[in-house]
Order: sequence, then structure tokens, then C-alpha cells
Amino acid sequence: MRILVAGGAGFVGSHLCARLVQEGHTVYCVDNLSTGRKRNIESLMRSPRFSFVPRCVLEPLWLPVDAIFNLASPASPPHYQSQPESTLRTNVEGTRRLLQLATETRSRFIYASSSEVYGDPAQHPQKEDYLGNVKTMGPRACYDEGKRCAETICYLYQESGVPVSVVRIFNTYGPRMRLDDGRAVSNLLTQALRGEPLTVYGDGSQTRSFCYVDDLVEGFVRLLDLEDGLPGPLNLGNPEEVTVLDLAKLVLRLTGSKSKLTFASLPVDDPVRRCPDITRATELLGWAPKTSLEEGLGRSIHYFRRAVHEHAEPEPSAAIVA
Ligand code: NAD
Ligand code: UDP
Repeated sequence: MRILVAGGAGFVGSHLCARLVQEGHTVYCVDNLSTGRKRNIESLMRSPRFSFVPRCVLEPLWLPVDAIFNLASPASPPHYQSQPESTLRTNVEGTRRLLQLATETRSRFIYASSSEVYGDPAQHPQKEDYLGNVKTMGPRACYDEGKRCAETICYLYQESGVPVSVVRIFNTYGPRMRLDDGRAVSNLLTQALRGEPLTVYGDGSQTRSFCYVDDLVEGFVRLLDLEDGLPGPLNLGNPEEVTVLDLAKLVLRLTGSKSKLTFASLPVDDPVRRCPDITRATELLGWAPKTSLEEGLGRSIHYFRRAVHEHAEPEPSAAIVA
């Protein structure tokens, strides 16, 4: 297939592009490099089946494709909160523009939504039919509501015949996350490997469920087999739930770091608990994550160790403004 990956130079997108090229597909990576980096796709540039198209998804675009993955959007809270209007527009208007391309090219369309559509969930674990507990204002709203509105646009185009699949991704981590990304796993690994204090926000009792990137990509690839798309959203994530404090302690153990923990104020509207119910993904795709948190962190540490070494100049890890 000829596949467009919007946001393909980012963390998840670059892994997806690599897997699709490896599977024999032709890949167009469309990215404005706002949070992504060329070095994420450097090795792919050598493949005749991979093209990088430097472009913002808000701009007009036509490419001869059979499938479109839309991952274009900042994902880390410090990044999306520093550019709220652009985040909202990228998700809403960018998704609409790519759905128009899907209509013209009769392509399948896969949208990278987020567990953030559930907000600070009152139901636990979160099933796809949970409607969420989300705010239209506050620092997370640009992202949460951007994803929700983009989902709505996806379903409008689905009604007019585009085979759409909406995937709600839960916290995903792995190699190629930026050292200055600002998310929990990248901050804690970078801090531990630099010998800096590990920043735990709040008392660290809030939970997340972390999915290794290869597992997520496997789920994405299986969606390509669904010619008709999906009639509703689909959770993809790892149901192994941990507190942030336990994550920090695990990072210390696995890196062998002597860093201390430091507690900072909890960011505004930080969800208290998050864990996916993945029954639907297992039933529809035969999918479940294979990589334990310990194993995935171990693989990530190899990457972060090298990256920290290459960027030997200390740069403060992006911390959220509470
Ligand atoms: P990322 O920031 O590494 O990647 C996003 C990519 O989109 C970057 O390469 C960036 O340059 C590109 N981009 C942003 N705005 C763009 C625009 N207007 N035009 C073209 N390209 C643009 O983040 P990620 O973790 O790889 O996330 C990828 C997608 O998955 C995002 O849509 C994110 O919301 C979603 N998601 C990720 C997670 C996660 O834990 N990683 C969780 C939920 C949802
Ligand atoms: N977090 C933390 N220290 C950090 C970065 C994040 O304690 O250096 C916490 C954050 O408050 C949240 C959890 O870790 O409770 C996950 O944060 P992340 O930014 O990775 O993702 P999200 O909040 O979007 O799930």
C-alpha cells in the first residue's frame, strides 16, 4: 500500500514508518518537525519506499495514497500547553484536511486519538463507551477537546463513506522520545542517567499504564487489515497500571542511578488514575501488549543512555508549569 503518516518524524510516527517500510509498503512521512526530528527518520531516508514531505497538515496537500495515519499533534503536556491554539487547530483542522484527502483518494483513515478524551476518568479501567470527565477550559483542554472534536469529524466522514478507525492511545514510551520531551518516562530516565533528582509531581500516587512503542505499532498495523474501518473508538494501551512513584523507583533500580527523588507540585487537572480496558482490541484484532514495563524500560534505557551521552551538555528536562 501507499501510506501517508502525518506526524511520521515524531516518536511514535517514526516507529510506525519504519515498521510499514519493513512490511513492504511505500510511506510518505508528512511532518512540520515542530516536535519531531529528522534524525528519527534518518535511516529510513535511504529506502526508495520512504519519502519525507516537510509540511504542516493545515496546508493543502495531495498525495496518491491508499491509507492515511494521522499522528500529527504535539503529545507531551509541556509541548501542547506551550502552543494551545496550534494544538487545537492541528487536531481539528488538520484532521479535516487529511479526511478530505482520504475522500479524494478513497483511502482508509486511522486517527491517533488519546486516552485524554476520558479526561480525569470517573470509570476505571476506561472502556471505549465511557463518555469521559473532561473540561472545555484549563491547560489540558486544547489537547483533550482537540482530540474529541477530531474524533467527531472522523465519524462525520465515516458516514460519508471513508473507512475510518479512531484509536485512543494510552501513555506510550520507548526509544526516540526526546530528552526534553517533558513526559514522565523520558524525564525520569533522563534525570536518572544524568544523576539529577527525579521529579515526581504531587505525591506520586497518581497512576498511568505505560505501553511500549512496538506493541502500539503492532496494533496500528493490524488496523490496516480492516478494510471497512471501525464503527467506534478503540483503546490501545498496556493495562499494567503503576503509580508514578513506583515508576520513578523502578527507573532508579533499572538504571542503577544514585539520584534522589524530588517532589514538585501536581500540574493542574492532572488525571488521578488511568488504565485502558483493552477487551475490544483483543476481540477485534487479537491484540494485546507483549512487553512488560520492566522489559520496555530496559530497552529504552539503552537508547536514553546513548542520547544522554551524545548531548553531554546538561540541559534542564522540560518541566511542566504547575
Ligand atoms: P510527538 O510529539 O513525538 O510526535 C508528533 C509529531 O507530529 C511530531 O513529529 C511533530 O513534528 C508532528 N506535528 C505536530 N504538529 C504538526 C502539524 N501541524 N503538521 C505536521 N506535523 C505536525 O508525539 P508522539 O508521542 O509521537 O504522538 C504521536 C501522536 O499520538 C499524537 O497525535 C499524540 O496526540 C498521539 N498520542 C500519543 C500518546 C503517547 O503516549 N505517545 C498518547 C496518546 C496519544
Ligand atoms: N510526571 C511526573 N514527573 C515528571 C513528568 C510527569 O511526576 O517529570 C507525572 C505527571 O504529573 C502525570 C504522569 O507523570 O501524573 C504522566 O505524565 P505524562 O506527562 O507522561 O503524561 P500524561 O499526564 O499526559 O498522562
